[in-house]
Order: sequence, then C-alpha cells, then structure tokens
Amino acid sequence: MTYKELLKAGEIKAQENKMEKTAIKSLLLFASGKTPTELYISLENEAKEEETDKFFQAVESYTINKKPVAYIIGYTYFYGYKMKVTDQVLIPRWETEELVSNILIYYDDLFKGQTVDAVDLGTGSGAIAIALKKEEEKINMIATDISLQALEVAKENASLNSADITFYEGSWLEPIKDKKFDIIVSNPPYLTNTEFVEDIVKDNEPHVALYGGKDGLDFYEEILKEAVPLVKDRFFIAFENSYNKKRQLNNIIKKYFPDCLIINLKDSAKRNRMTFIIKK
Ligand code: GLN
Repeated sequence: MTYKELLKAGEIKAQENKMEKTAIKSLLLFASGKTPTELYISLENEAKEEETDKFFQAVESYTINKKPVAYIIGYTYFYGYKMKVTDQVLIPRWETEELVSNILIYYDDLFKGQTVDAVDLGTGSGAIAIALKKEEEKINMIATDISLQALEVAKENASLNSADITFYEGSWLEPIKDKKFDIIVSNPPYLTNTEFVEDIVKDNEPHVALYGGKDGLDFYEEILKEAVPLVKDRFFIAFENSYNKKRQLNNIIKKYFPDCLIINLKDSAKRNRMTFIIKK
C-alpha cells in the first residue's frame, strides 16, 4: 500500500470508531519515521512492510483500544517544546499553555528582568517548568513530584530541551522547606470522582495526576498551607484549576493569604481555569 492509501484506511477506521480523523496523520508520521514534508512528497510511494505493520498497530491502539495518541507515539508538544510522555505522566494540555503565558505576563509585571526563584509543584512531564525556564532564563527553576517515574520523564525532558532545572522527589513543597520563592506554580490534580471524565482520559492517564479528593480541592489546601512560610515579601502563586470551583478555591486562598490580591482568569474556551495570588 502507498502512504496515501494507509492514511485513507486509517482515517476510515477512525471514523468508524468515532475517533479523531486528524490523529491518523500523527500515527503515520510516527510509523514511517518521516517528517511532515518527507511524508507529503512520498504519499504516492509504497510503504515498507514494517512501517505498514507499525501503522496498523498504532491505528488499532488508538481506534479500538482508545489509547491517547501522545502515549502511542511517546511524545507531544507543549508551548512549542517537544515533551516525552509515558502513561506515568499526564499529557500536557493546551489550557496549561495558557497558564504558562499568563505566568510570563505576571513575571514581567512584578519582576521584569530580575532573577527569581520559582517552583513547579507536581511537575509530571516537567512541561510547565521547562516552558517557563526556556522562555525566561532569569527564572531559577525547581520542580517537585511525588512520583519517581514522573520525575524520570521530567528529567529526560529537561535534558532533551536543554532546560536547567533542579528536581526534587516529594510531596509539593515538602522536599524544599529550606527555600523561599518568588513564584509558586502548580497544576495539581483537581477532578472529582463524580464528575464526567472522558474514557480516554480516565482509562489511560495516571489517576494520581487527575483526582483531587471529594471536591477536587484537597491539594490546593495542602499547597497553600505549606506555602505560607515559604514565600518572599513579594510573590505570586499561580494555579490551574477546575472550571467550576472559583468561589470555593478563593475561599481557601483567603484563609491562608488574607491580604493578597486574587485574580481568576478564564481559558480561551471561556471557562475559569487559572488563579493568581499576588503580593506586590
Ligand atoms: N485538565 C485535566 C483534564 O481535564 C485535569 C488536570 C488536572 O487535574 N490537573 O483531564
């Protein structure tokens, strides 16, 4: 079969199984090892047998076993940076790219040009920490995670992207209680067991990175409590959060940081998604 025929056959399978047609091209790129341009100019050529086998296996994993494309091909892109992913880490989301852009805006607003100490809590694949460090060299970046397997992925990603980050294993701020921070960032697990979560997420991604207790807010409380003695005089804390928890989250924040400015931001799908706690 030609690459074009493979693509068509894969797309039909996707449609039959109500999966995204556009994902098939990524699987063909993966199976052929070609760049998008190389694939485009060889569409009419015969694919090798091992490429064909690898392609149909990947299509089956995606359309029948409902595995996320990023786990099948082993990587995704976040903020333009290539990130390796395994099923031990959450697949970085576009909403989280918006968190990163807003953090960079607040960095400019509060600290422009200054060297700052920042930490990404529950770093997972390392996506947030790496994007921040690459975009703003003046950020001294630390990242923590309770999962050793996740930290291994994060370290690999830091090295793939030549991002200078110090990693610590442990829960939230626990391993770095001797330090103080200008910026604390986290996208903690914030889903609840009772809300709707797509099967492709629920059946594949690590639950330790998804679920945040009864109301999805357990970890914000843990982080905020630990953060009180570890922030400098001027600082900001940036969270990603669930779209329907703004009021409850703000109440927890007021308990620990009563004299700070709280800013809730929407993502581009117009859902509450980010919270900034600021002390100028
Ligand atoms: N945004 C993720 C999802 O919708 C959840 C991430 C998280 O809990 N931090 O699947």
